Amino acid sequence: MKKEKFSFEFTSYDNKAELENNQRQVLEEADKISQNAYAPYSNFKVGAAVQLENGEIFSSSNQENAAYPVGSCAERGLLAYVNANFPNIKITKLAVSTPNINYPLPPCGMCRQYILEMEKKQNSSIELLLAGNESEVFVLNSAKDLLPLHFTDEFLG
Ligand SMILES: [Zn+2]
Repeated sequence: MKKEKFSFEFTSYDNKAELENNQRQVLEEADKISQNAYAPYSNFKVGAAVQLENGEIFSSSNQENAAYPVGSCAERGLLAYVNANFPNIKITKLAVSTPNINYPLPPCGMCRQYILEMEKKQNSSIELLLAGNESEVFVLNSAKDLLPLHFTDEFLG
């Protein structure tokens, strides 16, 4: 028997001003669209934005539903759209932002798995930019870091 340990490194910036211009631009799009969140039940507004390798930026917000499981996170709704419309263009960055908390917003477990699937599909990592309202910004290299012992197609044989 032996104990195993999982750890990862990420960068924490004091605020958005410390980011590179390109990172800040993607995060600002996520900030902006969080205002369009359809969140009448939780009032928890989330915005997500991706940048593709060709430089294009797309964004979306969370969309709730009276039948709660029907709702969709900002990240998953956005990634589904991008994967459907630009299946052969790699995603380089994904920013997630909320005005509701003053701490970098981590994606939920389902979204982490979804991001991981996109990384596997395109065979490259997606930089994650996580921010709350006026909070520090966490920059991570990959969804893998948020999913220790992650599940992928490799287990499906
Ligand atoms: Zn989610």
